[in-house]
Amino acid sequence: GMPAVPPPVLAPRRPTRQIRVGKVAVGGGAPVSVQSMTTTKTTDINATLQQIAELTAAGCDIVRVAVPSQDDADVLPIIAKKSQLPVIADIHFQPKYVFAAIDAGCAAVRVNPGNIRAFDDQVKQIAQAATDAGVSIRIGVNAGSLDKRLLAKYGAPTPEALVESALWEASLFEEHGFRDFKISVKHHDPVVMVRAYEQLSEACDYPLHLGVTEAGPAFQGTIKSSVAFGALLAKGIGDTIRVSLSAPPVEEVKVGIKILESLNLRPRKLEIVSCPSCGRAQVDVYTLADEVTKGLEGMTVPLRVAVMGCVVNGPGEAREADLGVASGNGKGQIFVRGEVVKTVPESEIVATLIEEANRLAAELPPS
Ligand code: SF4
Repeated sequence: GMPAVPPPVLAPRRPTRQIRVGKVAVGGGAPVSVQSMTTTKTTDINATLQQIAELTAAGCDIVRVAVPSQDDADVLPIIAKKSQLPVIADIHFQPKYVFAAIDAGCAAVRVNPGNIRAFDDQVKQIAQAATDAGVSIRIGVNAGSLDKRLLAKYGAPTPEALVESALWEASLFEEHGFRDFKISVKHHDPVVMVRAYEQLSEACDYPLHLGVTEAGPAFQGTIKSSVAFGALLAKGIGDTIRVSLSAPPVEEVKVGIKILESLNLRPRKLEIVSCPSCGRAQVDVYTLADEVTKGLEGMTVPLRVAVMGCVVNGPGEAREADLGVASGNGKGQIFVRGEVVKTVPESEIVATLIEEANRLAAELPPS
């Protein structure tokens, strides 16, 4: 058949260097990857691997684990070996854990310039060990732990301060010829965060890891991250993303994937087109949309399903979708690929949509 036309995007991706985080390429035109971080004690190997398996199933690309103690460093070889995802060791304060993580087979190490003054005299050895092992490094600047020197200079974690911290840390490694970085400059305020990444993107061509730090509980954090990532990705800025939520990490991954799907940076899978309902609705749209969403959770093929409350926009949207229902007078007209295939009583709408969706899905190749 005809070659598929790629869906439109808001901007071409900014050119960046490409690095590898294990099997995942980051930057240089690689698809924007989604990452998260485990919330288990890293030393609880089974719980950590279980959470990584859940993240894998949810579509996560890269996972980070905290390494606050020697006990955590000691279990990294097992975690790195058994994880289905490339593992990034998250390290503050202790340079020796950086070497442990590299030796353990971690794909990358995250260091925070604000918390690693003691690293300065070991940068050369770290650069050498990382190069030898093919390990990349994330320079992860965070407003809450900005280098004291820069906090004094700027008076607050401003975009300029965050960027200067990151580039200063990068320069220490560059002196030893090491450039396999990705960089983050996180702030809890989306406006400051967006400005910081814009400036960073102008100042270097390292791949950028986007994050709004301490974004809050699921509702607020989802909105803050979506708005901030959207503003940046709409300018082509961002190579890998982490949505930070005070919620289970699988939720972070779902939000991250939906952000990328919304911007056509990842193929859309299940998409529910449902109306907000209004005084014209002749069925309970909220319940219908919820039940169809739940019934189709985990769908791995691109499928647009329209759930519409009346005949004003219902037939139009239902016809444009792969599958849809236009409701009215206690009945639902079921559309498949633009044609009415049957009319069912309201009580059978959900079951009929799910059945038809599964039938259509079985005909499509997985994306
Ligand atoms: Fe209201 Fe009908 Fe539009 Fe739904 S489709 S919002 S019920 S007019």
